[in-house]
Amino acid sequence: MIVAGLGAMGSAAADHLARRGARVLGIDPWQPPHDAGSSGGETRLIRKAYFEHPDYVPLLARAYDNWADLEAETGDRVLYRTGTVYVGDPAGELIRGSRLAADTHGLPLLELDDPGLAELHPFLRRPEGYAALFEPDAGLLLCERAVAAQLRRAAAHGATLRYGERVLGFDRAGGPGGVEVSIGGRRVRAGALVITAGSWAPALLASLGLSLRVTRQPLFWIPAPAGFELGTVPCWAVQRPEAPGLFYGFPALPAAFGGHAGIKLAHHHPGEAADPDAPRSAATAAELTVLLRAVAPFLPALNGPALASKVCLYTSTADGHFVIDRHPEHPGVVFGCGFSGHGFKFASVVGEALADLALEGRSALPIGFLGLR
Ligand SMILES: Cc1cc2nc3c(=O)[nH]c(=O)nc-3n(C[C@H](O)[C@H](O)[C@H](O)COP(=O)(O)OP(=O)(O)OC[C@H]3O[C@@H](n4cnc5c(N)ncnc54)[C@H](O)[C@@H]3O)c2cc1C
Repeated sequence: MIVAGLGAMGSAAADHLARRGARVLGIDPWQPPHDAGSSGGETRLIRKAYFEHPDYVPLLARAYDNWADLEAETGDRVLYRTGTVYVGDPAGELIRGSRLAADTHGLPLLELDDPGLAELHPFLRRPEGYAALFEPDAGLLLCERAVAAQLRRAAAHGATLRYGERVLGFDRAGGPGGVEVSIGGRRVRAGALVITAGSWAPALLASLGLSLRVTRQPLFWIPAPAGFELGTVPCWAVQRPEAPGLFYGFPALPAAFGGHAGIKLAHHHPGEAADPDAPRSAATAAELTVLLRAVAPFLPALNGPALASKVCLYTSTADGHFVIDRHPEHPGVVFGCGFSGHGFKFASVVGEALADLALEGRSALPIGFLGLR
């Protein structure tokens, strides 16, 4: 089994395949965890009351179980259930969709009045006309730590992980099944190829005619007011009717985690088009100003200057939903792509689904709604 790309999804696929006894060769031009793709920047939100669509909820339940299993087996803590507060227009996607997912699947999701909000998150305000919800099961994942743990477990179960090489293409192998994979200048025959190349997947999957857009996504760390630490306040996400997407942020992580000081915040919405192979322009002070202005009615205590910034990549489908399937013309090729700025939390279950498709040609996990069709 060859896995092309060992970021969030590929490290999980290699891990699941190796633990199920497959001989695995994982390939990546960089050495993950790195920040050249979509999986850098210390933290990712994880939540279950999924406003994007209730059909994601069963996959999330499995993802939580798989993250817990990874933690138990490796001893690395990757998930912190801080809870998350959602503040938004009651008619907007965030509030309506979160309530719908929670009602459909019986998930805990609390309606907050102002004293309740102040108690949970003393820095967060609910402007007139907005609703506030609290999801106790939501929280954050440490993204680099999670990718590293998945790769370590894959290697411990025998996977060969090769860095500094690139999968360039694939072809039908002679004889029944299988695929011939071109890696650098070599051709290697495999039982299956799993394509998890993030922002580079559009090039490898060009023949599918998927509409995948790669965009530049700035994120910032700013000074944390005292009392904004992990363990003290939940994560937060806000949606304003006059702006697309969500504005969101995390508590400040302890210095012992070795990351940036301060609190991280970002805008979840596809940004400017980007070429994953071209040098990326740095995040600007003007971009931070726009972000701080958008969150000011909700978090007036937050202010710059940026302590640090990063630019990450989204690879988005037209409707923001992922695509996980087998290649229609190459039965030996399976792929997961278009994780659209909300995929990280699913990596532990996407890896399992991809391993199912590669080993058995089908998966019992409810991924049908994410199929190519
Ligand atoms: C700023 C930002 C914030 C986000 N916030 C959240 C969040 O809060 N919650 C959430 O759930 N999700 C979030 N996401 C989305 C999530 O991080 C992504 O969906 C996820 O990381 C995508 O993983 P991936 O494995 O597809 O891509 P990547 O992790 O980028 O992995 C792709 C890998 O493929 C390798 N590669 C490239 N070309 C080749 C080749 N030819 N052959 C072999 N390997 C190759 C690359 O080097 C890379 O290692 C966010 C994303 C960004 C950018």
